[in-house]
Order: sequence, then structure tokens, then C-alpha cells
Amino acid sequence: MKHSIYHQATFLKSAAKVSQLPDDSGTEIAFAGRSNAGKSSALNCLTGIRQLARTSKTPGRTQLINVFTLQNTAHRLIDLPGYGYAKVAQQVKQEWQENLAHYLNVRQSLRGLILLMDIRHPLKDLDKMMIDWAIQRALPVHILLTKADKLSRGQTQSTVLQVEKQYALLPDLISVQAFSSLKKHGLDTLLPVLDAWFAEPLTPDVSHTSE
Ligand code: GDP
Repeated sequence: MKHSIYHQATFLKSAAKVSQLPDDSGTEIAFAGRSNAGKSSALNCLTGIRQLARTSKTPGRTQLINVFTLQNTAHRLIDLPGYGYAKVAQQVKQEWQENLAHYLNVRQSLRGLILLMDIRHPLKDLDKMMIDWAIQRALPVHILLTKADKLSRGQTQSTVLQVEKQYALLPDLISVQAFSSLKKHGLDTLLPVLDAWFAEPLTPDVSHTSE
């Protein structure tokens, strides 16, 4: 089967914080988005495993980072906690944000970020913040505009262009596509992005070379 590595994802562990993640070696790709953006559905669509992203969705509960390994265990998919859930206490929101920022900032094995946004509500403040954090460390971001089946083809295309335009100065770092887990549309564009990131060798961490 083509692209079967994503069909061989298995759950490794959940981590409440970055320090509980597996060793920072190998290569990982993280999936992030506001809660309800369609992240679990997209991960299920990608891997074919229904229960894969059955994350704890109870509002207010500690949200965990879920780690999945691919057949080659040095390759990981990271399901980051959904952000922006309205009913969560401000302090908990703050903690999630710090956790996400910390993960994006320090994780050396992270090769790219898949950022999911409902195509009807793209680029909310927290989404832009995630993108900015990624840009700060030159981490590529591939944006999935989810639930594209909710819009016409014309509306879908114009939203993709509108989001692309926001980051037109950073074409090497930011890419955008429409996606529908419901219709299974967009996997053909997503898979080559993941493949390329997993295939890339890790660049040495120049920030620690003085030691
Ligand atoms: P998460 O909170 O980001 O993990 O989002 P979920 O994957 O749980 O999806 C949130 C809601 O959006 C659910 O009601 C899904 O059924 C719905 N949803 C997710 N993906 C799609 C899609 O591609 N099309 C449509 N129409 N609805 C979707």
C-alpha cells in the first residue's frame, strides 16, 4: 500500500509536559490547532486508525501531548493539545500556551508543524501566534484548512489564496492547502509534505556549538 508508514502509526505515550516526551532524537512532525479544528479527524484520516487521536476532550482537563511512532520508531507524529477552548480557565489556557511555546521552541527533533484551521475561521490570534513561534526558529508550517467540504470550490480556493497571501513573503516556510477528512480530500497534497520532512536530515543545532 502506498504511504503505508502513516498507516503503521502506533500510540507510544501521552505527556503532560515537554520533559516527559521521548528522547529528543529522530524526527517528529507536530499537529496543532484550535480545539474543534478537526485535528483528530485529520489524524484518523491520515493513519486510518479511528481511535488514534481519541484525546481527552473533557473541557478543563489537563490536555496532553500524544506521541505516535511510525514503523520506523525514529519517526514520530505529535498530537499537540488543542488550544482556544472558550470555557477553559484563563490560567489553564496560559499554561497550555506556555507548554506549546516551550515545545515549539526547544524540540530539536521537530521538523515541521501541521497547523489545522477550520476553513471558515482561518488565522485566529492563537493560530497566528503558533505560526510566529514556528517562524522564529525557521520551522516550516504546512497549513491545513479543514472541513473544506463546508465551502464551495470557489470559496475554498479564495480562502487558500487569502491565507497564502498573509505569508507570501515566506514561501519556503509556509504552505497552505484545503483539506476534508469527511471527503478524504487533500491527502495527496499532505503526504508528500510529511514524506519530505521525514526524509530531511536533521541540521546540527548551531545554537549549542559554543559549548
Ligand atoms: P479536534 O478538536 O481538532 O480534534 O476536532 P475533531 O476532529 O474532533 O472535529 C471537530 C468537529 O468537526 C467534529 O464534529 C467533526 O465531525 C467535525 N469535522 C472534522 N473534520 C471534518 C471535515 O472534514 N468535514 C466536516 N464537515 N466536519 C468535520
